[in-house]
Order: sequence, then structure tokens, then C-alpha cells
Amino acid sequence: MEKFIPDSSRMQAVEDNYKAILSRVKESAVRAGRNPDDVRLMAVTKTVESVYINKALDLGADLIGENRVQEFLGKKDELHLDGVEKHLIGHLQTNKVKQIVGEVDMIESVDSIKLAKEISKVSSAKNLTTDILVEVNVGKEESKSGIYAEQLEELLYQIAELDSIKIKGLMTIPPICDSEKEVSEYFASMYQSFIDIKGKKIDNVDMEILSMGMSGDFEAAVANGSNIVRVGSAIFGERKYF
Ligand SMILES: *Cc1c(COP(=O)(O)O)cnc(C)c1O
Repeated sequence: MEKFIPDSSRMQAVEDNYKAILSRVKESAVRAGRNPDDVRLMAVTKTVESVYINKALDLGADLIGENRVQEFLGKKDELHLDGVEKHLIGHLQTNKVKQIVGEVDMIESVDSIKLAKEISKVSSAKNLTTDILVEVNVGKEESKSGIYAEQLEELLYQIAELDSIKIKGLMTIPPICDSEKEVSEYFASMYQSFIDIKGKKIDNVDMEILSMGMSGDFEAAVANGSNIVRVGSAIFGERKYF
């Protein structure tokens, strides 16, 4: 096999982008009157070769997100993951749960009781607890996973009953919007759900994390209470799908 040679201009771009995005995240927190340390930048690494991911990790990135179980398991041994938190952010099929439980620190994309039960079962069998976020389909788009906000509370109560799984908050991907104002309304509505549920103090539900905002809209997300922004292409460049 031919040896993969990293492109040095792309390596430099990852460095410049990572630093610039990190400052923009912190600045938007300050503009919103928030503590910049309360907002974390996740580097979203799907389709990105390990050398470029390692560049971001060496610069101090301490949280990565991958979409696919297979891709993550295939790359993880090449990554500089000491002290780095790993989240699964893509749609998870129940038949892949066995492979991913124990390999990541959080599964952000739980949207059904069936999936939660499987995570609970596998986690119990492996003698560990899996932290999860519940994914909300805030724009009620048929093409997207996630549950509707109206069904959220019931699902949280059901998941809270399960062993070896711990709800840590909510995740969402809003619809593609034409304006910052429009996307901000979705983010604000998610923040409202997050605060409402936090106020209910449901047993076994810690509403600590609100994961929202991507390359095109992370500043609006931070302005509306996000504490994890998930940024891929603005750090690593446009994705090439193979
Ligand atoms: C790909 C992806 C992102 C990052 O998207 P960009 O627009 O490249 O920043 C964030 N969250 C999820 C769930 C994703 O699948």
C-alpha cells in the first residue's frame, strides 16, 4: 500500500482554523455574558484522516466527535487520545451498540427507548455506566433522527428507569436555515426545553450538557446557551466522502 503523505498546506490550515474557531467560540461566550470556560469546542472528525485529527489534538483539542462506529474503531489506535473525551454523535443502530459501549465517553444521539434499553443492557453486561444525551429533532424534519420536543419528557422518564445509563443532557441538529435569526429561534426553543427539564429535577437525569451548533451556526448556538459546539468542516475543511 502506498504510504499516506499528509498535505502540509492542509496541516497548516487545520492549525489556523482550529485556533481561529476556538477564539470565536470563546468570544461568542463573552458576548453572551457567559464564562468562556463553560463552552467546549468539539472537533468533529468524520471522514478526516488521522494525521489531521492529531494536529488538532496536539494543539489542545480535548473533545472529539465521530459519527460512525466502524470509522471510529478503525481510526482510534492512530489518534493521540490521551486525556481526550470521545463522543459518538451519529445515528446509532441497536446492532452496533455492543461495539461502541465502553469505547466512547458519551453517546449523544439517543432518540428511542429501544436504543436506550440496548445501551443499558450492554453497559450492565460490561459492568459500566454509559453517559448519553437525548437527541431532539427540533425542526421536526422527517429526514432527521431525534425525538420531538413534545415526547422528550416521557422518553427521559423511561430512560431514567434503566440501569447503567445516565442522561447528561440534550443534543440537536436544527434545520438548515436562511438566516441567523431563524436558526436562533430553534436554538432558543431547545434552551427552553433544557431549562424546563432541569427545573423538574427528574431522578437520574442530570441536565448539564446542551450540545448544539456546527460550523455554520455555532455562534448563534453559544448565544442561546449551548455548552458543546460540534465543529467539523470549519476546522478540517470540506468533507470528501469516499
Ligand atoms: C458532521 C456533524 C457535525 C459537524 O458539521 P460541520 O458543519 O462540518 O461543522 C456536527 N454534528 C453532527 C451530528 C454531525 O454529524
